[in-house]
Amino acid sequence: MKELLRQLPSVDEILKENRAKQWLETHPRVLVLEAVRAAIDKQRKAILQSAAKGEDRKTVALSEFLDQAETVLHELSEPSLRPVINATGVIVHTNLGRSPLSEKAIQRVVEISRGYSNLEYDITAGERGKRHVHVEGTLTRLTGVEAATAVNNNAAAVLLCLNTLARGKEVIVSRGELVEIGGSFRVPDVMERSGAILREVGTTNKTHLKDYEKAINENTGLILKVHTSNYKIVGFTKEVSPEELAKLGRKNKIPVMWDLGSGSFIDLSTYGGAGEPTVRQAIDSGVDVLTFSGDKLLGGPQAGMILGKKTYLDAIRSNPLARALRIDKLTLAALDATLGQYLDPDKAAKEIPTLWMLIQPLSEIERKAGLMADGFKDSGNKELSITIQDDTSQSGGGALPTGIFPTKTVCIRHGQLSANQIESLLRLGKPHIITRIKDGMVIFDPRTLNDEEIGKIVETVKKIVTT
Ligand SMILES: *Cc1c(COP(=O)(O)O)cnc(C)c1O
Repeated sequence: MKELLRQLPSVDEILKENRAKQWLETHPRVLVLEAVRAAIDKQRKAILQSAAKGEDRKTVALSEFLDQAETVLHELSEPSLRPVINATGVIVHTNLGRSPLSEKAIQRVVEISRGYSNLEYDITAGERGKRHVHVEGTLTRLTGVEAATAVNNNAAAVLLCLNTLARGKEVIVSRGELVEIGGSFRVPDVMERSGAILREVGTTNKTHLKDYEKAINENTGLILKVHTSNYKIVGFTKEVSPEELAKLGRKNKIPVMWDLGSGSFIDLSTYGGAGEPTVRQAIDSGVDVLTFSGDKLLGGPQAGMILGKKTYLDAIRSNPLARALRIDKLTLAALDATLGQYLDPDKAAKEIPTLWMLIQPLSEIERKAGLMADGFKDSGNKELSITIQDDTSQSGGGALPTGIFPTKTVCIRHGQLSANQIESLLRLGKPHIITRIKDGMVIFDPRTLNDEEIGKIVETVKKIVTT
């Protein structure tokens, strides 16, 4: 063992090899060094392991170290954050980056990021301006609200509003709405960090107006309504409408806030979004402050929207926390462009990918399923069986919890490869293709795929089944 360890090449020895010299020309030195060290380390560990087990080991050729280092170097050279193809059919997939941006939003990001902008500069007046003005105009136009701003995400929006409106005061919330959204966003926890005091009312399934009424006292700062995004209480239930809460708030001079969660500018009632109010309807209910995400059903970048009465928005915007939670200029560029698209709702439905994926007709999904299935069949591989099945997609992202979206999935099975093997080859391959497994088959849901991605999937699957 000692002999083998002594024979391990040094970093310098490996770097003298021609292959390693070439790496240094095309890769940063730190990465080459890390890769070479990793290769040596791996051999050292293998030698020690063999010795512990009493196994014999042969000396390893230098070329093997080079191969190993090259593999590591390739891995290290890949960016950590990379594109994937989402074949799961889950539209607002939080793990996969939620909403892809529209072309217009992408163009605006490119344009704004390339140089300077009037981010906080009033061009007409020639003096310092405010960054929220860039979305306020469109948001007031779209919803009729008095004032609006955008922050880092909806969690930040909720935190900022609670901290501004109810720090050290009680916030009345229904027990049925004390939800966990996932990724550790829990309403009670955010409430605590905001400095507000949670005042739960009602029961899990039923909360009445009188429950809220009874909880009001001189230390009440806010009445909060939270969208139970990812679940629905059904059966023997009662919740108080935002209209009733708004009325109660006005009577007692207490602001009423609604965390709408997803927030859509388009009426999705015919697309599985029955009972989901649009942002305009939510504003019309009379609540004082409304928050929702920018990258859920809105289909824009990660952002938190805050809409409401001017007096509250003025207070929210001048809270010192607002600076810590502020939106950055690239996000603002994408958000402004996306919101602008909603001024023409018919066009928005076709041009904003998230919306289109949700409302595309089943015939379009069927066409894409056919395209993919034909591509697979084209491989002529006898071991590959391909079927198209009826299934349902999920909207994801805690949006439309009861929405059912009929889809057509392409399912494949292979004689020699298990579904798990195919799934992992697709996931680890280039491009990375994320699929589901069901009943021993790999499932592709064309709802979240465009024709170009389908082409890439077909090409990759063909390669996998023929090697
Ligand atoms: C998703 C969601 C949030 C968190 O929004 P992010 O934009 O992910 O920060 C907060 N509240 C509700 C009701 C949600 O659905």
